[in-house]
Amino acid sequence: MLANYGYKDASGDFFITIDTDKCDGCGNCVPACPVGVFEVLDEDPNDPMRDEPVAVVSGEKKKKLKYECNPCKPDSDRPALPCVAACGEGAISHSW
Ligand code: SF4
Ligand code: SF4
Repeated sequence: MLANYGYKDASGDFFITIDTDKCDGCGNCVPACPVGVFEVLDEDPNDPMRDEPVAVVSGEKKKKLKYECNPCKPDSDRPALPCVAACGEGAISHSW
């Protein structure tokens, strides 16, 4: 399942998508993000039948992703976003 966290405003769409079919709850994305966008929950708020932990975007962060992520991008010295690079399962994507 694709879990979308974020918002759109006049300047664009600012969503982080976590593919929960790929996410194994490893937690690598949590320390990789310098501003604490991610957390891993034991229970998936979108899928009560899920047995394993899953990453989500933290509550207050999802309303200001454009600003939280701005220092990470775009940066030619940093070819991959830290969160995307940290996720060996390829579960994290950004809309912008
Ligand atoms: S690094 Fe990827 S697989 Fe691991 S918890 Fe984060 S999103 Fe899930
Ligand atoms: S782009 Fe940077 S600030 Fe945004 S979620 Fe990824 S690691 Fe965190």
